[in-house]
Amino acid sequence: MGRKKTLVLETTAPDLRKAGEIIRRGGLVVFPTETVYGLGADAGNAAACRRIFSAKGRPGDNPLIVHLPEVFRIPLAAAEISPEAALLIEAFLPGPLTLILPKTAGISPSVTAGLPDVGIRVPSDPAARDFLRFAGVPVAAPSANLSGRPSPTTFEMAWEAMEGRADAVIRGGDCTVGLESTILRLSGGRVEILRPGKIGEGEILRVMKKKPSFPEVSGDEPPPAPGMKYRHYSPRAEVLLYLREEEIPAAELRGKKIGVLALGPGAPGGLPADVPVARAASIDEYARRLYAEFFVFDKLGCERIYAVFPPPEGIGDAVRNRLLKAAGGRFLRPPA
Ligand code: AMP
Ligand code: MG
Repeated sequence: MGRKKTLVLETTAPDLRKAGEIIRRGGLVVFPTETVYGLGADAGNAAACRRIFSAKGRPGDNPLIVHLPEVFRIPLAAAEISPEAALLIEAFLPGPLTLILPKTAGISPSVTAGLPDVGIRVPSDPAARDFLRFAGVPVAAPSANLSGRPSPTTFEMAWEAMEGRADAVIRGGDCTVGLESTILRLSGGRVEILRPGKIGEGEILRVMKKKPSFPEVSGDEPPPAPGMKYRHYSPRAEVLLYLREEEIPAAELRGKKIGVLALGPGAPGGLPADVPVARAASIDEYARRLYAEFFVFDKLGCERIYAVFPPPEGIGDAVRNRLLKAAGGRFLRPPA
């Protein structure tokens, strides 16, 4: 596609109004949310939605999530809300959760890749919600990265990915969650987690009084969330996972283009002082900074990133899910 002039818009009312107008005219707008930056278009405009796929290099069978500014507007996109879905909406929206529900006729089939169901999300980020209010139509948006790359969680990342591809990029702050939304589907009395995220198994169990299940992609079966079959979240550098910092061959790090993602205090005198280390104090901080640190390490020209594989507590489940894909399942020392 030809490169286009991309506007930078601020999170002021006049600029967000302009962003909304661009959507209604069939344009593409990158906007911040609490999870990651999204690349949005009018969900009722098939041509605009198709441009999302070409801007990202996204396979056409990987559907988009529809964003609304308010819970009460969900019926614009979802034809039916079961009592169980209503429980989830009440408990978690606005927030980092996407619900798969039957779509209305107003949602273009190019949004859902022809599926009868649509992913619905009401973000909690105030700038996202103001932008969506000004748009006045449901906004279809995947993450604003090129397909296969980590999702943007800062303006700088979003700009680098979408300058020349989108009509405008809204300059929001850094995303506070930093990983894509939890995706839930209600099917045959089960609650299925199609993609883990900030809202975890424990919280879902508390609200639904039943344990969610994790459908896995296997063999030739079509994956339950079409995105599950694609490689994802990969920086340019090779990612290798580790469980304990002592596994990192510290002596071999000197002079090599290697970065380390670490969690917790670490062993005193552990890693050489000249190795770039991004150390998070908590699992939430690790999740929030993960993609942005991938971006920084790529900028530094790192050829390899050693990333700690965190315990499955809280958002740790979602971090593990993204890291396994980013690393292609490779560990520095295969776990026992
Ligand atoms: P992204 O926001 O870039 O992570 O992309 C949206 C994700 O939501 C993809 O992984 C899709 O497969 C998933 N998704 C969107 N709509 C549906 C749907 N109707 N059924 C299942 N998964 C969906
Ligand atoms: Mg994505």
